[in-house]
Amino acid sequence: MTVQIETFECLADNYGFLVHDDKTGATAAIDAPDAKTIRTALARTGWSLSHILVTHHHSDHTAGIVPLKDELDIVVIGPQAEADKISRLDRTVSEGDRVSVGSLEFEVLETPGHTLGHVTYFERKSKSLFSGDALFSLGCGRMFEGTPGPMWKGLATLRDLPDETMVYCGHEYSAANAAFALSIDPNNKALKKRAAEITQLQSKGKPTVPFLLGEDKAANPFLRADTSELAAAMGVKLSDPAAVFVAIRKAKDGF
Ligand code: ZN
Ligand code: FE
Repeated sequence: MTVQIETFECLADNYGFLVHDDKTGATAAIDAPDAKTIRTALARTGWSLSHILVTHHHSDHTAGIVPLKDELDIVVIGPQAEADKISRLDRTVSEGDRVSVGSLEFEVLETPGHTLGHVTYFERKSKSLFSGDALFSLGCGRMFEGTPGPMWKGLATLRDLPDETMVYCGHEYSAANAAFALSIDPNNKALKKRAAEITQLQSKGKPTVPFLLGEDKAANPFLRADTSELAAAMGVKLSDPAAVFVAIRKAKDGF
């Protein structure tokens, strides 16, 4: 195994991740919610940080960049469209770009909507998707900056990734997402199964992240905006999945 991933909780409900390449020793942090927690994770694993891959400009994903950059020799990579909002970027990326971290290669996928320039990183060798605040287990980020069409299109692109992809998302929102999803899609077996699993994991104090994309495709209402079940549940025409998507998003905002 050349790829090792360390998942850790930080701030109120964020996740931090270290992705380590055994072959070269290169290690990337996905986002930098908090420098202190990342330092602790580095000490625990014995890895030395070489890169930070940033998904979007919100402070709970970027606050650790400056302190870490000040003390370590690291390369910071983030979305081109948010370069003016994120300090200390060494390289900017957009759709289709590849980012090498040692022998690992991350593919950049644009997922606008939560923020306009939000990107996600897909590591093909280990089939790991780092989805930031674009895609959560049974949910997706709030639409703060974008519009429904591109946001739906970005999520549909993530849905096209292989079923065996493991998703590492930016927050632990699974239980609240499950409650909402069940309210609009109550007869979905895959959803009921995942909701039960989330309850189980949380009762043992365990994280619900990472999760399997193939299972989320069948259970996450936001990835099912082009199904007749969700169109009917929202009372929106099936022919306009972006409209179904935004109806689900608005319903969740008010849930
Ligand atoms: Zn955010
Ligand atoms: Fe966030």
